Amino acid sequence: MTLEDALQPEVLSDRIQAARSVARTWETEPVKARVERLRPLFAEILARKDEIADLICVENGKPRVEAVGHEITTCLANLDFLLRRAPAVLAPRKQGLKWLPHRQAMITRRAYGVVLVISPWNVPLAIPMGAILSAVLAGNAVILKPSEITPRIGDLVVDLLQACHLPPGLVQVIHGDGQVGAALIEARPDKVCFTGSVATGRRVMAAAAQHPIPVSLELGGVDAMIVCEDADLELAASAAAWGATFNGGQVCASVERLLVHSSIAEHFGQLLADKLERIDPVEDLGRITMPRQKGIYDQHLADARERGLEISFGGDYLDADHMGPTLVQGPGVLDSRVYREETFGPVVALVPFTDDSEAVRLHNDSPYGLTASVFTRSRRRARSMAGQLRTGLVSINDIGATLHGHAEIPWGGVGESGFGRSHGDEGLLDATWVQVIEEGRWNGFEPKRPWWYPYDHRQMALINGFTELTGARCTRSRLRAVARLSKAAVAMATRSPRS
Ligand code: NDP
Repeated sequence: MTLEDALQPEVLSDRIQAARSVARTWETEPVKARVERLRPLFAEILARKDEIADLICVENGKPRVEAVGHEITTCLANLDFLLRRAPAVLAPRKQGLKWLPHRQAMITRRAYGVVLVISPWNVPLAIPMGAILSAVLAGNAVILKPSEITPRIGDLVVDLLQACHLPPGLVQVIHGDGQVGAALIEARPDKVCFTGSVATGRRVMAAAAQHPIPVSLELGGVDAMIVCEDADLELAASAAAWGATFNGGQVCASVERLLVHSSIAEHFGQLLADKLERIDPVEDLGRITMPRQKGIYDQHLADARERGLEISFGGDYLDADHMGPTLVQGPGVLDSRVYREETFGPVVALVPFTDDSEAVRLHNDSPYGLTASVFTRSRRRARSMAGQLRTGLVSINDIGATLHGHAEIPWGGVGESGFGRSHGDEGLLDATWVQVIEEGRWNGFEPKRPWWYPYDHRQMALINGFTELTGARCTRSRLRAVARLSKAAVAMATRSPRS
């Protein structure tokens, strides 16, 4: 499809209609059949592992170890988890009704129809693939709008799925920039699954609200790592060096705020600087994927310098495509852009805290809430702090971002980090809506309901007895309510029918 076509409302609307009709048939296939259809994807991904990694390295610029470990392995882990869990998670559930024992409800998970997946460039394979697998297994068709920075990986995602011989048109890719993404929402898919920046997420939500279309938003983060004085400092410094800089820091869950107990802050800063020193900005961090990012790094570092902050490590570009790891600290850092805003680069700000409650307060003083890490040798202390952090995921003695690689963990944030979940059972359920089908247990046994017309004093007495029974909290009041209810029921049964 040409860019011109991709901006024609009728063309997009036709594509969505066509996908919707494929989805209608797809949804009628049993979940187990859908699972079997997707199984060949394992072999396809493994057979084309090198080709996939090559393309990720070329288009995104991340190190090969991350292309394989963070993208390909995450796809396989997700596939494995979803194929195992889908039949149970999507199975209908019977629900009895306490006050109508002759009736029962079936609670089912239905597919939306067409899910529009809009994805970013920083994790160009694993993010859209995770969303697509959940949506397709749940019975939906998918239209993928990849980032214009990584279009060939978008094509590759759909190409890999061809191995599964899915119905034609079930998963399609439509290329283009943000304008195309916006036009696709106007063409009214049945759900939008968006991963990207907060600014775009707001636009997506506002556009979807006009129709209204449900959205899930996986947005940015300015994630914090808390290092207590009793932590294994060697471990914590290695974790911070990696968590703040892998994928060149172009990660929604990158460690951007380091909250360190004041008694060890100076020592920890030195330990971290030693670790950062050993990082190779080219081999380990990869390329700055989008030149636009440099404008943000420059502004944030200029702001830090204007504030007189200490850039205690790095702060320089190696060349046009690579920036070295950077550590910023000093009085006033709390108000700096490096600390408050998403830099999306290999830059981290260090702030000392004096006690756990201050660490929690500092952590929560952010509109974002995607992941956090707490490093301490005390499990009790870690759990207590974790329970007070306003964030979607907390990892104790590990980096929160790692949780994206664990397929069974629901991934997502709170506040400006968005809502909705990918991965885990919750991610699968997010691709569905709930339908309730209520029915009689015994075919043909359908008494007239006592709450239907006519309304009269006998019916009122029955309703009163029922209300009392519902609220009764002790045996005595229950017995009294049952007595009233029985008397009213007899009166009801003997009244002359009016309607
Ligand atoms: P953007 O918000 O710029 O773009 C995300 C996607 O939205 C792209 O495909 C983009 O297209 C598209 N888009 C842009 N404008 C619109 C619009 N008006 N309507 C519909 N779609 C639109 O984010 P980036 O690609 O720059 O990704 C980086 C951001 O993503 C960071 O903030 C990061 O934190 C966040 N992110 C969050 C994750 C999470 O799990 N919470 C994971 C990964 C990233 P195009 O690029 O072609 O312009």
